[in-house]
Amino acid sequence: MIQIPKGCKDVLPSQVYAWHKLEDTARSVAQAYAFKEIRTPVFEHTELFARGVGDTTDIVNKEMYTFLDKGGRSVTLRPEGTAGVARAFLEHGLAGGVLPFKAYYLISAFRYERPQAGRLREFHQFGCELYGAAGAAADAEIISLADTFLKKLGLKEVALQINSIGCKHCRARYHEALKAYFAPHIGEMCGDCRSRFEKNPMRILDCKEEGCKAIAAGAPRMLEYLCDDCRAHFESVKNLLSKAGVGFTVNPSIVRGLDYYSRTVFEFVSAAAGAQGTVLGGGRYDTLLEQMDGKSVPAVGFAAGMERLLMVMEAENCMPPADMGAACYLAGMDAPSREKAFLLAEELRREGISCEVDLMERSVKSQFKYADKTGARFVAVLGERELAEGAAQVKDMRASSSECVKFEELANYIQRRL
Ligand code: ATP
Ligand code: MG
Repeated sequence: MIQIPKGCKDVLPSQVYAWHKLEDTARSVAQAYAFKEIRTPVFEHTELFARGVGDTTDIVNKEMYTFLDKGGRSVTLRPEGTAGVARAFLEHGLAGGVLPFKAYYLISAFRYERPQAGRLREFHQFGCELYGAAGAAADAEIISLADTFLKKLGLKEVALQINSIGCKHCRARYHEALKAYFAPHIGEMCGDCRSRFEKNPMRILDCKEEGCKAIAAGAPRMLEYLCDDCRAHFESVKNLLSKAGVGFTVNPSIVRGLDYYSRTVFEFVSAAAGAQGTVLGGGRYDTLLEQMDGKSVPAVGFAAGMERLLMVMEAENCMPPADMGAACYLAGMDAPSREKAFLLAEELRREGISCEVDLMERSVKSQFKYADKTGARFVAVLGERELAEGAAQVKDMRASSSECVKFEELANYIQRRL
């Protein structure tokens, strides 16, 4: 038997209701903030991610699904959503259109990681991007959207942590301070951190190795190196969030995994999700679009991991109720009543009532069993007598009571009771 590739997951029909809840909530919250959906390809030219995500990141260094297509071009399954959205925005000349540009996506993403709980090779994200607005209100709007989304899912124990990692001017000073701090310890640190030390010392703060984490705990903090503009921006974001009732704590060790961030960075972290506790992460990335096209367009966004959200929903006991079965199962006793059941079901479906009839040529008793197992709300039984009288015996499976209902009144009868 061929099995599913490692690190991937099937979503079976009996499990999909939880995904629908996630996706429906994402769409409705995005809509409330007037974000529109954007859809971009599952694969892009490898170069897009190398440049857009950044070549000092784990994603680009270790995790990309890259291959040559039949034309010999190097393409990569998207490891995240931002680079593709940024490409589409620039390629369609939207920078010259109506700003701010506000878009959301619901996508699958691919990273070659060691599979474990909350860490898959194919996973799913809900993300939002807001381009063109440099002010703190844009950061606050994005964070509030994310916060509303998580609250609408019923999650209570997910905490917002925010930080500012400054701009390229104040970060240069900070990098020097970090290098001075890490230099005496670098021999004790992991190989990744040794190369981060050379290329981008701030990324050391994002290392997950215990030894490196312990050393990083005493490192100087970016917040003390912010320039006046970055400090004022951060204060405004915090002020707006506080006044809007979005609770947060400042966590100076959040730097995020991607190279393109500047100023505000944030994560929503759940204690319930164990080691993979970050369910949603994002921030401002004012230099990404400029790096890609030379046009300076400020940007802020986030992405949430759907599988991790499901884990947290489970842990916090706020999974939605499972899907119901059909509203009405129409059981037939003999050939003519089966045919009538088939045709009645078609009529009811046209009225928007979900219906099922027997497709397995089962006895009436077995049809009842099936209706019960699949959670049908009503069962309408048709036999010789019912056909003659033009009415069905309708059993309410919840109340266990039965009533005789005329065929032409069936739709109305069910609709009133659902
Ligand atoms: P981590 O530090 O846990 O590796 P990340 O910084 O790589 O996360 P992002 O690139 O910010 O993650 O992606 C946004 C969100 O997508 C994460 O917060 C997480 O919820 C989810 N995510 C990232 N990688 C995976 C994965 N391999 N499997 C499942 N979800 C993931
Ligand atoms: Mg990662």
